[in-house]
Amino acid sequence: MQKSWSKQEITGILSCRDPHLLDELLEAADRCRRDSVGTNVYLRGLIEFSNECRRNCYYCGIRKGNRSISRYRLAAGEIVSLAMSALDAGYSSLALQSGESDDPREINEVVQFVQAIKTQSQARDNTGNGLGITLSIGELTYDQYKKLWEAGAHRYLLRIEASDPRLFSQIHPPGQSYKKRLQCLNDLKTIGYQVGTGIMVGLPGQSVNNLVRDLQFFVDKDIDMLGMGPYIPHPNTPLYKKQVPDFEPFSMTLKIIALARLMMPDINIVCSTALQTLNPQGLELGLKAGANVVMPVLTPEDNRGDYTLYDNKNYTRPQELIERIKESGYTVGLWTWGDSRHYAVRNAQLE
Ligand code: SF4
Repeated sequence: MQKSWSKQEITGILSCRDPHLLDELLEAADRCRRDSVGTNVYLRGLIEFSNECRRNCYYCGIRKGNRSISRYRLAAGEIVSLAMSALDAGYSSLALQSGESDDPREINEVVQFVQAIKTQSQARDNTGNGLGITLSIGELTYDQYKKLWEAGAHRYLLRIEASDPRLFSQIHPPGQSYKKRLQCLNDLKTIGYQVGTGIMVGLPGQSVNNLVRDLQFFVDKDIDMLGMGPYIPHPNTPLYKKQVPDFEPFSMTLKIIALARLMMPDINIVCSTALQTLNPQGLELGLKAGANVVMPVLTPEDNRGDYTLYDNKNYTRPQELIERIKESGYTVGLWTWGDSRHYAVRNAQLE
């Protein structure tokens, strides 16, 4: 039977600085992951198709107010062509990501290229399933989410970033509402998406109590997927040089991933690029902590330097990622969507 975790237990683990405890936690999370979701690590080819954004999140390098990057938006044809190359290379799933737009023409364009990717990949793929599609394009209306779902997207990542409304309001400008973010997460679930969320670990103003609350929030919201990474300051943002908490963000992120795996054994958890950026062993340790999804970057090289959510982002060649996953004792889940097992379980419970 799945253990339920008290606030005191989680706080004790997150506050403890004994390195032996981290080792034991990673061992326990790895055992749990092998028992619940197996050894497969699923790949999501990541296409960052636009760095245009209408928002000004205080931590983000592609915020509207940052005038030091060139803005780009890939043409629909180029996105579809990148998607087909990904399919030919053995990827079964994509993550399509961009800044947030409220321009209906741009959202319609996304609907159209999602449809084109589905249709063309289904025709090209022996199984007829085509590519699985995860979207991460921010807060939209219910109707827009619905259109994207009908076009063929079936997973959506929308990070809450901070489940404490007070901390949320300290890292976002006044126009961005915690309530709206929650509404979007609820809408996505109602429509039928596999829903992913997540946080940054080590934000200015964040406490261990906030992180405990975040883990409980993920459980309460019954989420299907998690994407979490250490906070890496970006020089062209208002939070740069603001005082960060006194815990070390890399090992704290590992603890949060491990606890998330133990608390929610059958969800999908991403080993974030930020984790891999902060430490050369970030991939291996993230997998050991329970992550089972990796997102190799397929964004054209010419555009990568302008998709800088944080500073010094790590780019590891997809083939090297695959080799390192295998060397770490896991298997690579090629030719399968690798959906969240939790999603299937929660849907079966609804029937
Ligand atoms: S976090 Fe997302 S919504 Fe906020 S500025 Fe960055 S890309 Fe835009």
